[in-house]
Amino acid sequence: MRQILITGGAGFIGSHLTRTLLERGDAVSILDNLSTGRLENVDDFIGHERFSFAFDDIRNEQVLDRLASQAHVIVHLAAAVGVELVVERPAETIETNVLGTHLVLEAARRYRCRTLVASTSEVYGKGVRIPFDEEDDLLLGPSSRSRWCYAASKLLDEFLALATYREYELPVTIIRFFNTVGPGQTGRYGMVIPRFVGQALRGEPLTVYGSGMQSRCFCHVADTVEAVLAIIDASDSTAGQIYNVGSTNEISINALAQAVIERSDSASTIKRIPYNEAYGPGFEDMERRVPKVDKIRGAVGWTANRTLEEILDDVIDYERKRLRRPEQRHGR
Ligand code: UDP
Repeated sequence: MRQILITGGAGFIGSHLTRTLLERGDAVSILDNLSTGRLENVDDFIGHERFSFAFDDIRNEQVLDRLASQAHVIVHLAAAVGVELVVERPAETIETNVLGTHLVLEAARRYRCRTLVASTSEVYGKGVRIPFDEEDDLLLGPSSRSRWCYAASKLLDEFLALATYREYELPVTIIRFFNTVGPGQTGRYGMVIPRFVGQALRGEPLTVYGSGMQSRCFCHVADTVEAVLAIIDASDSTAGQIYNVGSTNEISINALAQAVIERSDSASTIKRIPYNEAYGPGFEDMERRVPKVDKIRGAVGWTANRTLEEILDDVIDYERKRLRRPEQRHGR
């Protein structure tokens, strides 16, 4: 039995990962301050003999040290995420992401933990060569635009993780997640699929930002969890490496809105909202974002298998149940 510490374990990806690890017999401790994570994500595990929950900030070094001392593997997911949150609170984003990762890597070094650091497709910034390859040059916007602080802070996390691998031989792997979606994700911080599904189920217009011609590749969280497990299990062969993890099925946001309306049998319409109204002046969106996934396929044989239809059906099902609970009705 292995002890896995998941920072940000009450978040969307973290809670799905926790469930799968517990099901396969591992022990899981999570560290989460519930800033964007939710208690309801981990409700099912409370009382499980192989599960423990530390309600604290990753910047609490004592708690982090104690949890790391007991762990074989650390999956570092705790971060400020979601474009809206990042634009609203850039200082907090930078501090949480950079200082948090620094402390996690230090603790991992002390106890020689196998470590995974979550990064993001945002680091590809305004890259135009599709699909995005892990070795591509990266093109970020100016520091006068808060949006880029997320990518820049995560990039620094990547440099720090790779430096720790090289200088201290800590077995650490970086995953760049691309638009992970599925049941349990909240639309509160701007994520498009839970927002569209919530709007469709409530009969409200779906808010498409900009022209709606921008496109994304959405990856079911169950596929994402399989990628994380494959990397944990591959152990040292993936150390010191960066992997894209995402789907390669591309869809425009217009087509996504249409698909959500159809699959939820909704009478909602589509409403276009200019970017400056949605995110404030000067916001820059990415037109396309498609990962190249040859590297992870070659290393551990992983590819995303679930279709967009499966994703939408799972999210619609989850949100329908959620809406039936009276206390959730007004939540986005
Ligand atoms: N988006 C939208 N309406 C919404 C929320 C998001 O049109 O209510 C768009 C957003 O501008 C972006 C895409 O959907 O082009 C994906 O947004 P999300 O925040 O889910 O992820 P991102 O790819 O921006 O990290």
